[in-house]
Amino acid sequence: MSVDENTPILRSCIKLPLATDELLEVTAKAKDYAIMHGAAMRSKTSFSPDSLNFAPFVLVPSAFPRKEFEKAIALQPIINRLMHNVAHDEEFITTTLAETIKVDEFTANLFKIYRKVLAHGFTQAYSVGLLRSDYLAHVYEGCAIKQVEINTIASSFGGIATHLVPLQNFVLRELGHAEKLKHMPKNDALAGLCDGMVKAWDIYGKPESVILFIIEDISYNICDQRFHEFYIRETYPHIKVLRRTLTEVHREGKLGQRKELLLGTTEVAVIYFRAGYEPGHYPTQGEWDARYLMETSLAIKCPSIQYHLAGTKKVQQALAQPAVLERFINDPEEIKAVGKIFTGLYSLDDNEVGNANYEMALRTPERFVLKPQREGGGNNVYGMDIPDALKRMTRVERSAWILMDLIHPPLTQGYMVRPGSDMPPQIMDMVSELGIFGVVIGDADNIVHNYQAGHMLRTKLSTANEGGVAAGLGALDSPYLIDSEDEDASN
Ligand code: ADP
Ligand code: MG
Repeated sequence: MSVDENTPILRSCIKLPLATDELLEVTAKAKDYAIMHGAAMRSKTSFSPDSLNFAPFVLVPSAFPRKEFEKAIALQPIINRLMHNVAHDEEFITTTLAETIKVDEFTANLFKIYRKVLAHGFTQAYSVGLLRSDYLAHVYEGCAIKQVEINTIASSFGGIATHLVPLQNFVLRELGHAEKLKHMPKNDALAGLCDGMVKAWDIYGKPESVILFIIEDISYNICDQRFHEFYIRETYPHIKVLRRTLTEVHREGKLGQRKELLLGTTEVAVIYFRAGYEPGHYPTQGEWDARYLMETSLAIKCPSIQYHLAGTKKVQQALAQPAVLERFINDPEEIKAVGKIFTGLYSLDDNEVGNANYEMALRTPERFVLKPQREGGGNNVYGMDIPDALKRMTRVERSAWILMDLIHPPLTQGYMVRPGSDMPPQIMDMVSELGIFGVVIGDADNIVHNYQAGHMLRTKLSTANEGGVAAGLGALDSPYLIDSEDEDASN
């Protein structure tokens, strides 16, 4: 990503650079601290189910504007309600995705399941949303946060993010900066998310029933998932957790007389999807059949199919159009507050508006990012690459994509620590993306639980378009809240 040389740099938490000896020593300690406290992942390059690498992390917490952080936290229950209402608006979901599903086979398959479930009536009225709303601060609007996307499926890193605060606390103390800890907000993401699943289990109301995690064939982000599992097992020992792939559910799963989901003789109360959000998770029709079986069952899904569809980029784009929020939010103040976090989002549907947006993208591609209906990183097209990508598509194919204004975040400077990278780490220019977790549980008529559930910060090199932590250029981090730029002396 090209960075404007005038991009402001947020002041760092402590004075940098560190002396080389001190840096080497504290980095080595921090790596071991990370592995020993589960800020870790399986290696993709030398995979072994028996070992872990530390997850890439930023040594000292990166600055984030306090006011914007607090705004994001305060907005989360409103966003939870918004997404819940969107998920339950059949007409909105159907018309919004109408063009997209003509050309995007994956979304079309999800949508087919949705229509089939609708046709038979929902067996389970309740859904659980474990959401994560992602933001970048935008320098052209005084660092006001802008939503990058909202995740409604497999919102990850709540587990590791919770354990990253103690890691960075440890580093700051080692460096003699204990007084800085008070500017790091506490993070209860893990407890908040797991308690959401347990509340759903309570609603299901069968003492012998279990919580099922749907997983990929290989879970690289194993610690994050295990943190959820172990938290539930340790805090609520009477609730069992099972892990199965979609393929295994296809093989073992069936519906009982009340349409309860059975794996063998075990009844499933809650299904937590950590897989199922990308085409590769469905290698055969069998995995799609398994997804349908679960959607049509009595188990409470996290997320249910309508929640999954509500999290598509196309729905996000539709929500950002003028006057659409009024359909889902009553309070004018809330509409205004949510409206402000949206940046420009544009349809590329095959109609007059879509075609005008297409022309605009060709004229000024540097203003935009082009996104398909995919999750998990690495799918977007940026800036000057957009015209070629668009020209390769037919008019109809374009409707599977949306166009979004590029957000320009401020820079921070710090040390990014990655497995296998050179020691000592160098000071890098970086940018941070804040994720706020939310939990919402309810049916079409009522919301019974709605709360904000902690946060995560992912930081990437300023030169990278995307900062996937597993993918290579991102690192886990937590916010160091700063009040304003005029307090530099406090360093
Ligand atoms: P995914 O579902 O693959 O995570 P995202 O919409 O979150 O898709 O995009 C992936 C990454 O691309 C984000 O984490 C962010 O770093 C970058 N990105 C996405 N949208 C924008 C934008 N509008 N401006 C700047 N960067 C963006
Ligand atoms: Mg994302």
